[in-house]
Amino acid sequence: MKSERERQYEAMDAILNNRTPEKRVMVGYKGNSEKQGDKESHLTKIMKDVRMPWFCPKCKKVMKKQLDNQVWMQFQHCFDCQIEFENRLIIDGKYDDWKEKKVTENRLAKYKDELQGIKEFYDKKKVTYYNAINPELGAMDEETYEVEDADEWDAKIDEAVKFFESEIKKLETKLEKLNEVA
Ligand SMILES: [Zn+2]
Repeated sequence: MKSERERQYEAMDAILNNRTPEKRVMVGYKGNSEKQGDKESHLTKIMKDVRMPWFCPKCKKVMKKQLDNQVWMQFQHCFDCQIEFENRLIIDGKYDDWKEKKVTENRLAKYKDELQGIKEFYDKKKVTYYNAINPELGAMDEETYEVEDADEWDAKIDEAVKFFESEIKKLETKLEKLNEVA
């Protein structure tokens, strides 16, 4: 019986094997400008979530410790509030469910990211690479790479997509159940 992790790696490996020559300086993909915009706005959103405010929104105390920052990024309140919150869960006997829920949420987010990344390979049947011959002069050597068997390429991606979609569904079901208890 293969572990989830092993299957995941195998799925990724299947795609990456057909990938590209190494040692590239810069990669240019066709029709990628829209995606670039999405990424930027996504990043902006993340940055906003990450920035720690001066005061904890829950207890109103000043947040400045390294620990506060780490807790803030994950839970949006200070370290002391998190300790209190977790103690409460322990007392109520809900800690394990809560922990399980957090782990599941993180894994789900990771899988969704990976699925998105894998789907992008569909558009990467033909790519152009630019090698900097002389970076100071800005001289570039252009090289186009195209997969030999487009059907095989798609089939491998299909397989990985299917795997991740089914894993995501499992995690979502699990999370639903955890939401009922925690
Ligand atoms: Zn607090």
